[in-house]
Amino acid sequence: MSENISKRYADAACIRCEEYDDAEVEKALREALALCNGLEWLKPGMKVALKANLVVGKDPAAAATTHPVVLAALTKILLENGAAKVTVGDSPSGLYTKPALEHVYKASGLEKVREAGAELNLNVDTKEVSFPEARKARTFTITSWLLEADAVVDVCKLKSHGMMGMTAAVKNLFGMIPGTMKPEYHFLYKDENDFADMIVDLNEFIHPVLAIADAVVGMEGNGPTMGTPRKIGAIIASRTTYAADIACARMIDVDPDTIPTISVAKARNIKGADANDVVIAGNAKDLVIKDFNKIVAHSGIHFEGKGGAFGRLKEKIFGMALETKPLPEKKTCISCGKCANICPAKAITMKNGLPDIDRSKCIHCFCCQEFCPAGAMKVHRTWIARLFLK
Ligand code: SF4
Ligand code: SF4
Repeated sequence: MSENISKRYADAACIRCEEYDDAEVEKALREALALCNGLEWLKPGMKVALKANLVVGKDPAAAATTHPVVLAALTKILLENGAAKVTVGDSPSGLYTKPALEHVYKASGLEKVREAGAELNLNVDTKEVSFPEARKARTFTITSWLLEADAVVDVCKLKSHGMMGMTAAVKNLFGMIPGTMKPEYHFLYKDENDFADMIVDLNEFIHPVLAIADAVVGMEGNGPTMGTPRKIGAIIASRTTYAADIACARMIDVDPDTIPTISVAKARNIKGADANDVVIAGNAKDLVIKDFNKIVAHSGIHFEGKGGAFGRLKEKIFGMALETKPLPEKKTCISCGKCANICPAKAITMKNGLPDIDRSKCIHCFCCQEFCPAGAMKVHRTWIARLFLK
């Protein structure tokens, strides 16, 4: 990992932060912002939107959502530096309604953020926007509250992710899409790299001025909603979501180029997306978690289908042998049928109280795993994959 403090400002800063103590988080945030010139964009009177990760309403201790202490500290810093208004929000999974948002805010401990001076977004309007420069998503529907702000700050949580391997700043912006429409986008962009390209389009459209990653306690294993909290001990800041994700990937000992959103952004020559050029300042070197329980994204296991029919057969065999897939765990399943309802490919039917997955229809979006309320749908890796891939 490169640490070069001779450059005036780093592309990303990673600062040690041991716990969710108000003063400690605020200190780490201030230090990280100073190293990457993180408030350079802020002008007096601005309305700032903090796009948190509030995928589900859960106690902050579950590590599924951006911690309220991080959001509160950032709110305080922004107001103190001239922001006229700070609004915090997200579009969680499921209905995008005021009662649903109020439930998620309460469950995720966001009262603390309100006390710090932020408003919690309750505007549930959506808008169809066009983005002709996009690679995949030239028109899409997004939550309007983000469009009302003068600037958007991405305040994500570092977690493992069934489909993308890791979710942090770049993937967090998929939360711009209203909750009930998300499965449609999975179905529309079935291929993992198409899906990643669509998410990069969303990033390029909304263009956050700053990305903050809450990696004090992240989530490993069956992420992004039912994994295990894992202390990482870091606050990460960057002026680009891509450099923030590269720093996050480094923290959990993942090659950034195996994260589909990073690899497609790098292929598009987007600033901050080439790990070789990203300078990370602070304590990054001391904070790498070597034994983080990772999920390897498919992009880490692609093979070139060269060599005619034999080459393609080889690719297929290797692909099947190494493929990650959703697999229900009988003893944990509560037979609620939510996975069957949410599956965008209609690949799941309930049989004798258990989900039965038609593998020929499955598009590996891992929505069933992400939204299983019992944590029964697991990301299954074959023994060959566990042997050969980190
Ligand atoms: S969502 Fe989870 S608990 Fe519900 S049926 Fe599917 S696997 Fe079982
Ligand atoms: S079975 Fe799960 S991973 Fe496969 S398409 Fe359905 S929701 Fe997505």
